[in-house]
Amino acid sequence: MLTTCQRDVDRLASVAVTEGFIAGLPKAELHVHHVGSVSQRVVAELAARHPGTVPSDPDELARFFIFKDFPHFIRNYLAVVDLIKTAEDVHLITSGVAADMAAQNIRYAELTVTPYISITDDLPAEAFLEAIEDARRAAARDLGLELQWIFDIPADFGMPAADLTASVALDHEVPALVGLGVGGSEQGFPRSMFRDQFDRARAAGLHSVPHAGETTGPETIWDALVSLGAERIEHGITAVHDQRLLAHLVQHKIPLDLCLTSSVALRQVPDFDHHPIRELLAAGVTVTINTDDPPMFGTDLTTEYAIAARLLDLDERGLTELALAAVDASFATPESRAALRAEISSYAAMPAP
Ligand SMILES: [Zn+2]
Repeated sequence: MLTTCQRDVDRLASVAVTEGFIAGLPKAELHVHHVGSVSQRVVAELAARHPGTVPSDPDELARFFIFKDFPHFIRNYLAVVDLIKTAEDVHLITSGVAADMAAQNIRYAELTVTPYISITDDLPAEAFLEAIEDARRAAARDLGLELQWIFDIPADFGMPAADLTASVALDHEVPALVGLGVGGSEQGFPRSMFRDQFDRARAAGLHSVPHAGETTGPETIWDALVSLGAERIEHGITAVHDQRLLAHLVQHKIPLDLCLTSSVALRQVPDFDHHPIRELLAAGVTVTINTDDPPMFGTDLTTEYAIAARLLDLDERGLTELALAAVDASFATPESRAALRAEISSYAAMPAP
């Protein structure tokens, strides 16, 4: 159960020596889902606004976020999605996510947004896009947080979802949209299903950032690379079983956006010590540290860096290199990347208080 995972998170994150350093370290996050980042406090607020299947009581809600397997996670995730009914709801969750990020010194994030599951007759694409854009501008202005978007096809919903996502991305003016992704189930949904949408998105200048190799083997990662032209892979942990694939990722400089706690919580690996991050790094693959759906997994980015520090035996210099790797793997503009690199380097050069 997730409670076991939570104990592991607490134990690993209690490496106090680096915790203060990580908290203050300016960070970039590349694999984090919009709705999956909504805090339990905001979910409770939405559940009270729209009574139904999601509890608004904090204790019941905490139990609601304990998942027995991946399908259970997807079910409850979609129940939270159903709570987002109006442009005000979209603005509330986006602003809340931005505030939670800024509180951890996340200075840049590529937030994976899934328009298909939020856009309805009552919440048309234009209103949805206006709400996220308004929250994005406020985050930059008030929090010093730069947000960019990756629009994500929820694979479980098939071609209608793929077509709608591509249409929202390509037929509208969407400031700060940098990529197209695909997430959700992998079994039964080969990445090549979505080749047409990715072809069109790439032709329009968007980057390709699919999920692959989370719940299925390396063949799905190959499929994402070959069919979708993936430039980064979300998760990709099963690459560790294919030496040729590892060499390909290194040669073509394709990073894996890892989410340590997510992979344990969803039973993709039995525990942190069995996570392949060490093997991936030893093979020379670039990895970035991310949260996926932080409140749903009882984590945040500071905690994930602390877990990585323990697993990889990192000191402050090693943690700084991880933070820089995320900046380099990002789709930020060269100016943003240079500014964030300089900020991280100057923070890391500061003498300990
Ligand atoms: Zn994800």
